[in-house]
Amino acid sequence: MSDGTMTPGMRKYVEVNNKYLAERDRYIRDVVKKWKFDTIAVHGLYSVQDAIEDYQGAIIEPVFMSTSQAYRDSDEMAAALEYRIPTWCYSRIANPSTYYYEWALALLEGYGFDGVTECCSTSSGMAAIMTAIQPFLVHKFHNKLEPRNFLATAQCYGGTFQQFNVRMTEERDIECRWIKDATNIDEWASKIDKNTRFLYGELPSNPGLGFFDIKAVADLAHSHNLPLIVDSTVATPALLRPICHGADIVVQSVTKTLTSSGFGICGAVIARKGLITNIDNDDLKNNFSIYVKYLPNRDYGPNLHPMQAIMSLNDMRTLRSKIDMMSRSTMEVAEFLEKHPAVESVQYLGLPNHPLHDLASRYMWLVDAEHDTQYGKPVNRYGHLMSFCIKGGPEPTRKFFDNLQRIWRATDLGRIKSVATIPAISTHQQQGEAGRQLANIPPNMVRLCVGGEHPDDTIADLDQALNTLR
Ligand SMILES: *Cc1c(COP(=O)(O)O)cnc(C)c1O
Repeated sequence: MSDGTMTPGMRKYVEVNNKYLAERDRYIRDVVKKWKFDTIAVHGLYSVQDAIEDYQGAIIEPVFMSTSQAYRDSDEMAAALEYRIPTWCYSRIANPSTYYYEWALALLEGYGFDGVTECCSTSSGMAAIMTAIQPFLVHKFHNKLEPRNFLATAQCYGGTFQQFNVRMTEERDIECRWIKDATNIDEWASKIDKNTRFLYGELPSNPGLGFFDIKAVADLAHSHNLPLIVDSTVATPALLRPICHGADIVVQSVTKTLTSSGFGICGAVIARKGLITNIDNDDLKNNFSIYVKYLPNRDYGPNLHPMQAIMSLNDMRTLRSKIDMMSRSTMEVAEFLEKHPAVESVQYLGLPNHPLHDLASRYMWLVDAEHDTQYGKPVNRYGHLMSFCIKGGPEPTRKFFDNLQRIWRATDLGRIKSVATIPAISTHQQQGEAGRQLANIPPNMVRLCVGGEHPDDTIADLDQALNTLR
């Protein structure tokens, strides 16, 4: 990423740092990549040696509340600012705290993947999506009128719908071609042309729990020399790692289930090295995460605060056991709702009668269940997001909602506390009736994200609120 010649002093810094990088890569490859998922979630790349040598033995990754890094001399500064040595420079570009957050996510999302994954942290999930898509939308032929398009699953988060529909399609003439039935590979194929830049899919989708065959869509994308970008927020790497199935890039709203505490907003872009694209840019192809971190995001500035990075890192350490517990509770809640006379329908991928249950069951597995003394064999888990429709339309739906006692009414998900919302009047309000129909969001739909409470107590709250409709 740099040009120009180096002074002898710069060369010395580069040599020392190349040794450091070689040792770090060895540690990742020979040590960390061999750990089980829980061990990676607990430790990531922060080692006893790091702590003792650099951080006065702190057993938790320190919060580097500093805007910038000082250099020993002009040679080190020049080498750093040309990105010839690992550096964090300025906290808009990088920071030692966000570094550990990034590596934890890169390693968790790349668990079981036999190549290398890296990560770029972002200030939110929306910033992660923007970071992931922008580099593919540049003018390739220096022609300002050049048409550009991309494909995306219509069943997606409301904010994603707005970013693609308003910011890209309406404001910039970059056409988002919505995929209405993501399980139909012919629909994907029919919408690709020579101006297509990438394929984008959310799964399971929020709130409709859409799903698609990742491998088939990745193969299709690659056959056209295009990358597949997946929003895997709802599943988290504890249940699904799209890169292992052929996806090139994963975006995460780490705000949600990955953290679950609800302390703040944060996101991440995780990409495999050597991704497939028709964009002629070697840095982008070789190491997308580092490319976006050091170049486009340096210039746009959607960076994560180090305090938030460390709080999020702490939340992620127990991801696997937490999502197992919350998935099991959600299953019980779904089974209860299915039998309730005031409920019209329940959408949860774990229910055998869900039309996408079989497809989801091919992909959604509790990581390492086969190494777990509790299970000792692979087990499917479907996460803690579900939705259901109330009989009688929007009015009884709001009455039920207003009568919830302990379940929170909020536009949030992924929390350790159960949270419910009516998507038509909240998360998916901005996209209007036509947009909601496209995404399959009726006005009597309630989205429920089941938290860590005992399921009996969650069921009791739902039951009393449903009984007010009699
Ligand atoms: C919330 C959410 C986002 C956006 O993330 P923020 O952290 O709120 O910016 C993107 N995708 C999905 C699936 C989400 O649920």
